[in-house]
Amino acid sequence: MMPDRIVIVGAGQAGLQAAVSLREVGHSGPITLIGDEPGLPYQRPPLSKAFLLGKIPASGLDLRSPDFLAAQRIDLAGADPALVLDRAGKTVRLASGRELAYDHLVLATGARRRELAASGSNLPGIHYLRSRADAEALKARLGGAERAVVVGAGFIGLEFAAVAADLGFACTVVEAAPVLLGRAVSRATADHVRAMHEARGTRFLFGEGVARFEAGADGRVAKAVTSSGDALEADLVLVGVGVIANDGLAAESGLATDGGIVVDRRLRTSDPDISAIGDCAVAPHPQSERPLRIESVQNAIDQGRHLARVLAGADEAYAALPWFWSDQGGIKLQIAGLIHGHDRTVLRGDPQSGRFSVFCYRGTRLLGVESVNRPADHMAARRFVGTSLAPVFAEASDESLDLKRFLPAA
Ligand SMILES: Cc1cc2nc3c(=O)[nH]c(=O)nc-3n(C[C@H](O)[C@H](O)[C@H](O)COP(=O)(O)OP(=O)(O)OC[C@H]3O[C@@H](n4cnc5c(N)ncnc54)[C@H](O)[C@@H]3O)c2cc1C
Repeated sequence: MMPDRIVIVGAGQAGLQAAVSLREVGHSGPITLIGDEPGLPYQRPPLSKAFLLGKIPASGLDLRSPDFLAAQRIDLAGADPALVLDRAGKTVRLASGRELAYDHLVLATGARRRELAASGSNLPGIHYLRSRADAEALKARLGGAERAVVVGAGFIGLEFAAVAADLGFACTVVEAAPVLLGRAVSRATADHVRAMHEARGTRFLFGEGVARFEAGADGRVAKAVTSSGDALEADLVLVGVGVIANDGLAAESGLATDGGIVVDRRLRTSDPDISAIGDCAVAPHPQSERPLRIESVQNAIDQGRHLARVLAGADEAYAALPWFWSDQGGIKLQIAGLIHGHDRTVLRGDPQSGRFSVFCYRGTRLLGVESVNRPADHMAARRFVGTSLAPVFAEASDESLDLKRFLPAA
């Protein structure tokens, strides 16, 4: 039987999706969505892209309108974080003192920015980019910026570097690893992305960290000193060194955590009355030998949908194919599947043309496909990666073979 009162902690992409999907599968009981940020649930991807460039206003980030939430009877308790989870009493206490009883609890608490420990990391002018408030604060500084330092050549740092180049200020990216996007993409794609950024004026320092920040006479950040002693002038610093799952509420109440909230294939935590979804959840996946915590819009949405079906009685394991995108300086990078651990690749298309895909195999198994400005390849890959229809290595190498032939019959 479907639980009656459903409380969702975390009013982000995953939490909102779970609420919407619960209504779609016919849940009629109360749904309360608890958030710790002001305003409506919003999408994060534009924060490092269109929003910073002034192409969309803050209101354009909202995922759903107040009228929609009211019509769906989704009760949004915003800016009132859940502080205490009492599993025995099946209640959640919020910062305001409000106590909510649940029949099923969904933890969709997302992740928070990882902060730098280097001395001077709290100086004005040093920014992070996770929330709408972070993006608004950063955007307000862009007008006067002349020299930026980015710490971390991950997706957020690189998207910011692309924005800096668009807006015409100099940018140096400091990265501890020897390559950019080290764990996330193949070497061929990493090299292409790097060349694009360098052609637009971005400078990279690989194998380097920031040892300390120094302030100028006005008290704002003026220099980032690297681990090898280079002093980089900077009037703006963006730190993008990853995130940490928000699993404190779960851990304090005794739920299993391991770099995130541990769930089973139906997205249940170690307490059957509590599930976890999105960036905060570590879940098994048929394409991975180890449970995974995936940070993507696709994962947040698909897990939200899946959980609603499970709560409505479906006995299905979560198995949606992971996919991801990143927009950087004219490059639309799209990834279908989990390419980590690939040992050989096939290139389709010519990187010189700016449009190509990299098919990533482990042995004979296609793990995933990265596409640079080849959206049709990406859409096809989303349908065949992880299935028996996927092209074998030799087939992928044959450019004359149309990828449509590997799609499932309509
Ligand atoms: C700048 C940026 C750009 C991105 N670009 C892309 C992209 O191009 N493509 C892509 O696929 N993904 C992208 N992502 C990742 C994507 O946005 C996330 O994977 C997605 O938002 C995860 O959704 P979520 O609901 O799990 O977590 P979140 O969106 O983090 O939402 C969780 C919410 O829960 C709140 N919360 C936490 N604890 C509590 C509590 N105790 N009580 C109440 N509320 C709480 C958090 O503050 C937050 O508001 C980007 C992320 C960022 C930050």
